[in-house]
Amino acid sequence: MKIPRYVFPKPDSTTAPKPVSKVCSQTVQVTQLAQAAQSVHDKGAALLELVGSMSAIDIPYKDLENTVFADGDPDALVMMIGEGPGEVEVAQKKPFVGRSGTLLNEMLAAAGIARDKIYTTNVVVWRPPGNRTPLPDEIDRMRPYLLSHINIIKPRFILIVGGIAYKCITEQNIAISKIRGEWAEVEGARALCVFHPAYLLRSPVHRKNSWFDILKFREGLVRDGCSEILANGLLNVGET
Ligand code: URA
Repeated sequence: MKIPRYVFPKPDSTTAPKPVSKVCSQTVQVTQLAQAAQSVHDKGAALLELVGSMSAIDIPYKDLENTVFADGDPDALVMMIGEGPGEVEVAQKKPFVGRSGTLLNEMLAAAGIARDKIYTTNVVVWRPPGNRTPLPDEIDRMRPYLLSHINIIKPRFILIVGGIAYKCITEQNIAISKIRGEWAEVEGARALCVFHPAYLLRSPVHRKNSWFDILKFREGLVRDGCSEILANGLLNVGET
């Protein structure tokens, strides 16, 4: 599958985010809450169905009791997709809470991206034995489930964390160094791939490039007017 590049439209009066009038903000909030409740309900049912359908997956280390499926608000604007849970993730039943997840979370926070507003999941939702990388056929088996997951959440942005997630989503076996930091379109969302944080822990020399990629991701959020996911980071403290 050839994935199209995403080109941000030039800001103009039709694409620029429209300010919400203060007078009607209460009404807007109530309407949004009602819509959110409705869509969370629908998404919740679809997500339960998706988890249920995973009983059909043929992966030897599958353990339905120990599934680390996802974490966060299903109506989040941003979905972050990693490789698979590690020991800490399995213990806490949440993606990205171990050592490498913590590094990525710190980088996002420093870039002023509100990590708690990101919906997170992984290619494989069980921990591979000995923390090994998921095998190509395991990635292939997970692909339809991951694509369904993306289509249920319908995020506006996807942060693809590492080459395995990129391969699973796009079916392309390309070196991550060639595609990291490039905007692409995935299932209707704007997607950007970054180095896996476990790689950055092993090779800190690449953190600088990854930092630029995460700032590029933030820039995309800013251009799209996603102010609810922007927080004060190291760079924008004191911004007006
Ligand atoms: N934690 C996860 O849940 N997934 C990763 O890919 C890395 C850390």
